[in-house]
Amino acid sequence: MGTRPLELLHLFGDLNNISGIGPKTINNLKNISIEKPRDFLFTLPFSVLDRVPVKSVRGIKSSQIVTVEVLVKSHKIGRTRTSAYRINVLDAEVSFQLVFFNARKQYLETLLPVGERRIISGKLEFYDDVPQIVHPHHVRTITDNETIVRFEPVYPLTSGVSQKLMFGTVDVLLKNLPELGEWIDPNLLKERNWPSWRDSLYAAHRPKSANSASITDPARLRLSFDELFSHQLSLSIARNKIKKSRGIMNIPTGILSKKVLSYLSFSFTKDQKLSITDILEDLKKPERMNRLLQGDVGSGKTIVAFMGLVAAVEAGGQGAIMAPTEILARQHFETLLPLAENIDINLNLLTGRDKGTARNNKLNDLKEGKTDIIIGTHALFQSDVVFKDLRLAVVDEQHRFGVRQRLELGKKGSAVDLLVMTATPIPRSLALAQYGDMDISIIREKPPGRKPIKTALISSSRIDEVVDKLKQSIADGAQAYWVCPLIEESEVLHYTAAERRFAQLRAKLGEGIVELVHGKMSSEIKDKIMDRFVSGKTKLLVATTVIEVGVNVPTANIMVVENAEKFGLAQLHQLRGRVGRGINQSTCLLLYKEPLNIASKKRLSILRETEDGFKIAEVDLSLRGSGDVIGTAQSGLPRFRMSNVEMIEMLMETAHQQARYLLAKDPKLETPQGRATRNLLWLMEQDKSIRLISVG
Ligand code: ADP
Ligand code: MG
Repeated sequence: MGTRPLELLHLFGDLNNISGIGPKTINNLKNISIEKPRDFLFTLPFSVLDRVPVKSVRGIKSSQIVTVEVLVKSHKIGRTRTSAYRINVLDAEVSFQLVFFNARKQYLETLLPVGERRIISGKLEFYDDVPQIVHPHHVRTITDNETIVRFEPVYPLTSGVSQKLMFGTVDVLLKNLPELGEWIDPNLLKERNWPSWRDSLYAAHRPKSANSASITDPARLRLSFDELFSHQLSLSIARNKIKKSRGIMNIPTGILSKKVLSYLSFSFTKDQKLSITDILEDLKKPERMNRLLQGDVGSGKTIVAFMGLVAAVEAGGQGAIMAPTEILARQHFETLLPLAENIDINLNLLTGRDKGTARNNKLNDLKEGKTDIIIGTHALFQSDVVFKDLRLAVVDEQHRFGVRQRLELGKKGSAVDLLVMTATPIPRSLALAQYGDMDISIIREKPPGRKPIKTALISSSRIDEVVDKLKQSIADGAQAYWVCPLIEESEVLHYTAAERRFAQLRAKLGEGIVELVHGKMSSEIKDKIMDRFVSGKTKLLVATTVIEVGVNVPTANIMVVENAEKFGLAQLHQLRGRVGRGINQSTCLLLYKEPLNIASKKRLSILRETEDGFKIAEVDLSLRGSGDVIGTAQSGLPRFRMSNVEMIEMLMETAHQQARYLLAKDPKLETPQGRATRNLLWLMEQDKSIRLISVG
């Protein structure tokens, strides 16, 4: 079972072998993620043109595609070769014009001879109320009209790749599709009324109706399900493997954690307690922990993770926290250091900035077990980072890391338990897609005593007023963030915009109290700037979204976000979460550029109504539909080819259940359905999973 099944081989062959495709095209195809024959089949048309013939263009709206039989009445040659050449035609009810530019007279007279009938297909337009079709897509004789595809699939294209190439190549592949056994449970298949894999591909690529590209189309749903099912299968296979590979039973003594409690100035919330219990239970189990800790910004995840790490140390091992940025790693280190010192736990920090002897010393301490808990960035992945006995790895703000990196960290010990923390409150269907098959603990309830954040929507035309107020507040002791608009088109523009705003604000508010921080700065400089902000020396921090994740400056109580309409709600919620952490009343000002349409205004208003991140994420998803709740740039979502967010919403949970169900009854995939499922995994290039099963 190590090799790809024969009947699938041609789908993974060389694109060169397909006629009409050469090295140049192969290069162009990469732009639309087509690298092997299979990818053509998985690149589904995004819409369907309806070319079913109608009797007349009468009543057809402008810009609509129309296919109609006409009688050619007369030719009207343009005055110059470049001006329009018009041909008057008559359908069953009205006359209209076909228009050509730069056309040869002789060619058009052969194509559309006066007095003959032709089938025309093209986009209808109106010029001075006269209907016309400029450069029809198709002109056919009556006997030849069957060659016009009734429902024409429209493929995503890139320069050098035409509809014709897509259509033609898919045609060849469809003709050679193998008949594969069914991998979907027969009951599910019947209940949903889904066609077979082969029929679904046919239906999607060769539509039989104009709404075949809609997300309710059974063939589309089936193909999406296949993709999600194979995704969940591979995650479940990996999970079973991890669970089977015995973890270590960590038996905490409870002595150190008791001490921690006595040093804390607060008591845990109910959800924090429950999450800590979940983690301790997992640590004690012989199976490996694979847990996601979801908690809104400010819900207090760090201390929960720390309690888990302390337990790992009590049990005689080591722990690690990995943060996505240097600033955050340092912040964790600084908040946890006093606690650790009080209970005689050796805490250390390892980032990319550690070099030479200092770094070597840290690595040695880790290797010899002198360091109990290490906090770090990506630097923890490096191969020379060796632990004496790593038991628990905590990954903070996971969405910045990929699944693979997470697994890397797990390899740093023989049986590392994994805890992943995220502040992105995403619905379960998306959590399944993003994090795979993990157990989940949720902190919904925030620590008591938080003052609600006042949130206001303000037109950017009132920016001068905002700056004046800000100046007053700062004079009264406030500290503020100012987040600059995201300019997606160009990184350079993005930074110049931030720099320009910084210069303006500094001019208005005064030298020395305004600073700029952005992602292009070295981490040393960023840290220094953050330090001055934390210490209160800097009053206003102008920033790009680098401050979005995690930073904790309790004295900061004003957040201004420019062009808020360009951000995702979840992202705005994260940004707002930077304030409201201290004892002072906090304010969040969302500046928007006019005109703002009703939908956008409604969307932003949600933030005024609630601070519940879970609710915000749900509303965002329902309002934006296929919109991107987590923000593409930072999402760890696998790239699905045939599933959009709505489909993930509709099908992921079922795919998850089906995967677990199948593996429970057929763990080695040996029944007919199991065998067929191996084909699916091959098709989806989940070869690794197949190997896991085979050696399992
Ligand atoms: P996040 O979940 O966003 O990572 P943090 O762990 O940074 O949140 O916690 C935010 C702040 O809340 C910290 O200053 C932390 O000390 C404090 N905190 C955590 N738990 C509690 C609690 N139960 N009561 C009061 N304050 C708490
Ligand atoms: Mg945090």
